[in-house]
Amino acid sequence: MLNVKEIRKDFPILEREVNGRKLIYFDNAATSQKPIQVINKIMEFYTKSYANIHRGIHTLSQEASELYEEARENIAKLINAKTKEIIFVKNATEAINMVAYTWALRNLKKGDEVITSLMEHHSNITPWITLSQIKGIKVKFIGVNSDGTLKTEEIPNLITKNTRLISITHVSNVLGTINDVKEIVKIAHEKDVTTLIDAAQSVPHMPVDVKDIDCEFLAFSGHKMLGPSGIGVLYVKEDLLKRIEPTISGGGTIRNVKWIQDEEICKIHWIEGPEKFEAGTPNIAGAIGLGEAAKYLMRIGLENIMMHEKRLVEKTLKELENIKKVKIYGPRNAEKRAGIITFNIGNLDPHQTALILDQYGIAVRSGLHCAEPIHQIIKAENGSVRASYYLYNTEEEIDEMIKVLMDLEDIA
Ligand code: PMP
Repeated sequence: MLNVKEIRKDFPILEREVNGRKLIYFDNAATSQKPIQVINKIMEFYTKSYANIHRGIHTLSQEASELYEEARENIAKLINAKTKEIIFVKNATEAINMVAYTWALRNLKKGDEVITSLMEHHSNITPWITLSQIKGIKVKFIGVNSDGTLKTEEIPNLITKNTRLISITHVSNVLGTINDVKEIVKIAHEKDVTTLIDAAQSVPHMPVDVKDIDCEFLAFSGHKMLGPSGIGVLYVKEDLLKRIEPTISGGGTIRNVKWIQDEEICKIHWIEGPEKFEAGTPNIAGAIGLGEAAKYLMRIGLENIMMHEKRLVEKTLKELENIKKVKIYGPRNAEKRAGIITFNIGNLDPHQTALILDQYGIAVRSGLHCAEPIHQIIKAENGSVRASYYLYNTEEEIDEMIKVLMDLEDIA
């Protein structure tokens, strides 16, 4: 059990008022709030140790480099990876694009196929569509059942001798559906297909073990897991990472650049580790802040966070079912979904519902949540209202939201 009362003390923003009411923050799938430990760590870095990393031999540069690498270690621990398998990027979107424009750009050819699904965030659709325009690859989509679960049984039939990659979300940011990514990776590997897991909605909320899943790539964002914005992670299995060459390169990515006078060329030797994908001066403070967030999450325990969110989801599902005009999307079984509840009320525009909730200090997301295809499938083309929970949310906060929604029934 989480001690939510104690946890809330770590999040100063939860003390503020919005529209005269105490803030109720239910927009965690978009981004999470930050604990004081993360805020202080970043402030301490800027006030005591700030310098560029990996370049200087002076004390501050050494300290900054150590803090940056310590952050990489903590993130590796969080997902049971090796430190050298962790690449710092801007966010999950950049991580997925990095796979598209390094590994896929160099290894896929015209006619090759990438399989993704119809429940993906646009960030796991558009890189593959764009790559199909550049390279002539084909993108195929796994379907979604009306209850919001993935049609996993379609995968063996979608795989052909040309399939090179399955890129799939762990948790849907719209429906909260948890996909059995371990099983999907197993099916893919039986046919020698590489796998990429979009873990933007799973790493912050549940135990994720890359060795157990056995995927080649895994992407997630720092800002959704108590860390700062502008920092994210791409995990790449060690042997694969060694074989991939970067597309964005420059300072910090090379062992040496030799001018071969006779041939009039520069020969590049890349660094072996993840740094070869971190060209230029990275988001040093962001990485250090994210390392602290990973420590915080490990201290609380991802299993505990997951169970807490499941309780909140179960309660919300039960209470929403009493409001006749509410239509809930996604799996009804709380076991199969993460801390995300998506719904509409009668004919009310989702933005209108969100605006009314905001008047009561309740922050929810409305619209298409950067995932339009899944809204077509659930027949909510105008979008939906999404309440998404985290470790600091309480049952009392849900009661407040339900009270407002009950009153809305009359005008919906
Ligand atoms: N994938 C999923 C499942 C997401 O929910 C999100 C963020 N909503 C992303 C990818 C993209 O994350 P970011 O905007 O941090 O790159």
